Amino acid sequence: MVVPYKHEPFTDFSLDENRRALEAEIKNVEADLGNDYPLIIGGERIMTDNKIEVVNPANKKEVIGYVSKANQDLAEKAHKIADETFQWWRKTKAQFRADILFRAASIIRRRKHEFTAHLVKEGGKPWKEADADTAEAIDFMEYYGRQMLEIDKGVEVNSRPIENNRFHYISLGVGVVISPWNFLFAIMAGTTVASMVSGNTVLLKPASSTPIIAYKMMEVLEEAGLPAGVINYIPGSGKEVGDYLVDHPRTRFVSFTGSREVGTRIFERAAKVQPGQKWLKRTIIEMGGKDTIVVDKESDLELAADAITYSAFGFSGQKCSACSRVVAHEDIYDELLDKVVSKTKESVSYGDPAAHDTYMGPVIDQAAYDKILSYIDIGKEEGKLLAGGKGNDSKGWFIEPTVFADLKPDARIMQEEIFGPVVGFTKAKSFDEAIDIANNTDYGLTGAVISNNRSHIEQAREDFQVGNLYFNRGCTAAIVGYHPFGGFNMSGTDSKAGGPDYLIHHMQGKTTSEML
Ligand code: NAP
Repeated sequence: MVVPYKHEPFTDFSLDENRRALEAEIKNVEADLGNDYPLIIGGERIMTDNKIEVVNPANKKEVIGYVSKANQDLAEKAHKIADETFQWWRKTKAQFRADILFRAASIIRRRKHEFTAHLVKEGGKPWKEADADTAEAIDFMEYYGRQMLEIDKGVEVNSRPIENNRFHYISLGVGVVISPWNFLFAIMAGTTVASMVSGNTVLLKPASSTPIIAYKMMEVLEEAGLPAGVINYIPGSGKEVGDYLVDHPRTRFVSFTGSREVGTRIFERAAKVQPGQKWLKRTIIEMGGKDTIVVDKESDLELAADAITYSAFGFSGQKCSACSRVVAHEDIYDELLDKVVSKTKESVSYGDPAAHDTYMGPVIDQAAYDKILSYIDIGKEEGKLLAGGKGNDSKGWFIEPTVFADLKPDARIMQEEIFGPVVGFTKAKSFDEAIDIANNTDYGLTGAVISNNRSHIEQAREDFQVGNLYFNRGCTAAIVGYHPFGGFNMSGTDSKAGGPDYLIHHMQGKTTSEML
């Protein structure tokens, strides 16, 4: 019997002991930079000449490592091995697969600060965010392992007296898992192990900015007993191998998390039945957000300002759930804005994420930096800049926490995903209007309502069209098994990562009926 699932606690870095432990691990990571990492196909380590250079976004000169890059030939080799491995892997017991995850979670828990230190460097994550990313990766392993054991019990169906009927879920086949860089550990691990524990074999293509943590996870899974060929690690350019893997006639499903642009491309391509293909591909596609916090006139404005500041600037706004728009009732708009601006100026320190008191680190790369600054320029024309607005890319890609006021609800910076530390404010005359504005984007991922008015909370529960809606708190920080996560509309397929239905998306239902 496994103990009931409980989420992994966050580390309290105000304790000297914890602070020293992470500092020591950061030093260890610094002493071990610049290594070469191979692909892993069928358990075989393969070094290629063509490498991805992975750099610390807080210090462009610091190379974290060089990662071998898959091309189409290697992707094909991996696909073939995953397909062959599936033929026996699909018959393994759920308990066998779940046990690998329970052991892997324990290994990571024991070496937690080592992984967290790596995330600080590879992802540019401040301590608190990196620690939460590691905790979430552990949670996915623990939670999906248990969910698989639940699913394995089967589902009751009726039988007539002359028959014996059964219904249960079986695996799908070879899954292509394509992950983003922002939750470089948690989302990459969650999407990969969900695919594996439900009896599928996997081709894992991590984001090119952050592929090393995925290699480290592979080592842990191998130590925990994962057989060769079940998960194949094939980093490479999304443009170069992405279409090939998605189009492949033997790909059974694609699990993607990333931008709307790439997600919709994958959705379209996966829908096309290729010559020799025997099934309709399953797609699990989770994309961007334009997430709103609505602040009611009857509300705790201090709480609202804290929720907005953390949701907008935690990990530099590089979360799909980040608050990038605030809709505030006109009666409290000015007071709320003042509070957010002063909190932003006074308490959102930004700088090197390796320092323990840094609130906000860099953004991920030059392309993100340029894109965010171009949105800040657009914002200067569309609204009033009240805080931040500048960037500095001399050492790493740093952008100030930025607040814009007095935007029209349909302004570009209120509609398009910026994915950086930028939040825009707009005013509503009533709660009805605030909810209408909150719903007026193509997305529908997260949202929050800060209100002491019970009927407004109930109204929002019905009418605010997002996959994850929070009351009297910020709109980020979903916890596996507590806040199943996924969005509506152009935010994706709402597969609800970390929720009770998630694994079923990676499986198919089979009915058997025997005449007695
Ligand atoms: P991205 O640019 O779409 O990249 C995501 C992954 O797709 C990367 O591994 C990328 O590889 C790969 N890729 C690129 N082109 C491809 C193609 N033609 N075919 C197949 N794969 C391809 O997204 P990102 O910048 O990494 O992540 C940020 C985005 O993810 C934001 O929009 C954010 O909102 C979203 N996100 C959503 C969720 C959610 O749960 N809804 C969670 C986290 C993030 P390369 O790195 O090699 O280009």
